[in-house]
Amino acid sequence: MSKTLSETASLDRSQQQLLRCLPKIDDCLNLLSSDRALHAIPHTAIKSGVREYIDFLRQRIFTGELSDGEALSLDRMMPVLISYLLKRDQIRFRRVINATGVIVHTNLGRSLLPTETMDRIYEAGMRYSNLEFDLETGNRGSRYSLVEDLLCELTGAEAGLVVNNNAAAVLIVLETLAKGKEVIVSRGQLVEIGGSFRIPDVMRRSGATLVEVGATNRTHLRDYRAAISEETGLLLKVHCSNFRIIGFTKEVENKELVALGREQGLPVAEDLGSGCLVDLSNYGLMKEPTVQEVIASGVDVVTFSGDKLLGGPQAGIIVGKKSIIEKIKKNPLNRALRIDKFTLSGLESILRLYRDRETALATIPTLAMISTPVETVDKRARRLRRLLRRDLKSHCTFSIKDVVSRVGGGAMPEQNLPSRAVAVEPLHLAVNRLERALRSQDIPVIGRIEEDRLLFDMRTVADDEVPLLHNTLLGIFS
Ligand SMILES: *Cc1c(COP(=O)(O)O)cnc(C)c1O
Repeated sequence: MSKTLSETASLDRSQQQLLRCLPKIDDCLNLLSSDRALHAIPHTAIKSGVREYIDFLRQRIFTGELSDGEALSLDRMMPVLISYLLKRDQIRFRRVINATGVIVHTNLGRSLLPTETMDRIYEAGMRYSNLEFDLETGNRGSRYSLVEDLLCELTGAEAGLVVNNNAAAVLIVLETLAKGKEVIVSRGQLVEIGGSFRIPDVMRRSGATLVEVGATNRTHLRDYRAAISEETGLLLKVHCSNFRIIGFTKEVENKELVALGREQGLPVAEDLGSGCLVDLSNYGLMKEPTVQEVIASGVDVVTFSGDKLLGGPQAGIIVGKKSIIEKIKKNPLNRALRIDKFTLSGLESILRLYRDRETALATIPTLAMISTPVETVDKRARRLRRLLRRDLKSHCTFSIKDVVSRVGGGAMPEQNLPSRAVAVEPLHLAVNRLERALRSQDIPVIGRIEEDRLLFDMRTVADDEVPLLHNTLLGIFS
């Protein structure tokens, strides 16, 4: 962003002097051309990086932030410029350490996959596969058949289908069953999920018309019944994954809604959001309806995410009545929303783990992190504190704090997971500077600031990340 001549004229003499001292782009490029550190960066990228950096210096002269002419000497500038260029060329998609305690953290990649699942995905990428090839007949096969049996076995549904994500699953269900028709939804269930997924908006996109019934806190069966007309195509329930309405509330039970649907010849769909396959209330967690329970209640079609409580890769899973799933499979939208081979191979691996509940809980990281006892998290926190106190006690104080982790991903918003954090209070550095420094590391560390201390919630930090976290802090303070 360069200034016009008249703006330049308004600068004082020292600023004009500084501007004249700005190095020439070509001089910088000449000096950089022999620098070994930059050998992997293409010339065009170096050139635009240098231009960007000099523009940045020019801006700082304009604003008065840069007033020391010495800083513009090539000797002083080169090392800074080189690290700027290296940073600018870093891989953008990077690993981070999640010390937030939010397990299904939508901004940090949601669910982590177990090693054996990653092995399947690796092979799917490195080798040819039977993605759409029927090994029995030698003819073309369907990619969906690869996980359909497993989905049916685990959920009790007649048929199943997988698409790109749950938003896509909801969209294609609505488009298939209710395009040009009305869909009846309780007012208390018109949820917005982070990242602008809103039931009313998806409904509009699908070509269906939303008919809201009931009040925000209470909806009765008679409200649904009164709204049914010639135009009705579907009765839809949406799981209020990320919020709760408490107090004087009423929602219609699945059984009653299913009975009404049967009586009126209308399908009933439920968007479960998280879609749990194991009842976590046996592990001291809140009761969430499992997919199996929803299917058993008679709901015709259920949608849920692959990478929320299920702990798999990003996917949208649709299970339900065969006649409905067949219609969805034939919808041309299906091609646009289709799942890729990596997801498919990963999802099959995850679903196979669910065939044994204990195995699922022990090996699927999302479930393992949710069910880790606080004593284990406490030990991990104490281990980190011991290392940090040993090496950095002249720089910070370190304490253990009782905190509350969250499941995240819009699931179980009220569920408190008791946890432990290492609280870091820097003695000679502002805590937000420390937070920023941690974010700018090769492997950034994401924690949170509370009362002038930086907290690392150790529930979401893996055991093998403790030394990494320790070394990262050593690097910052040494
Ligand atoms: C999360 C969620 C979605 C969207 O799922 P994605 O997998 O993020 O596309 C839709 N409906 C509900 C109720 C959800 O909780």
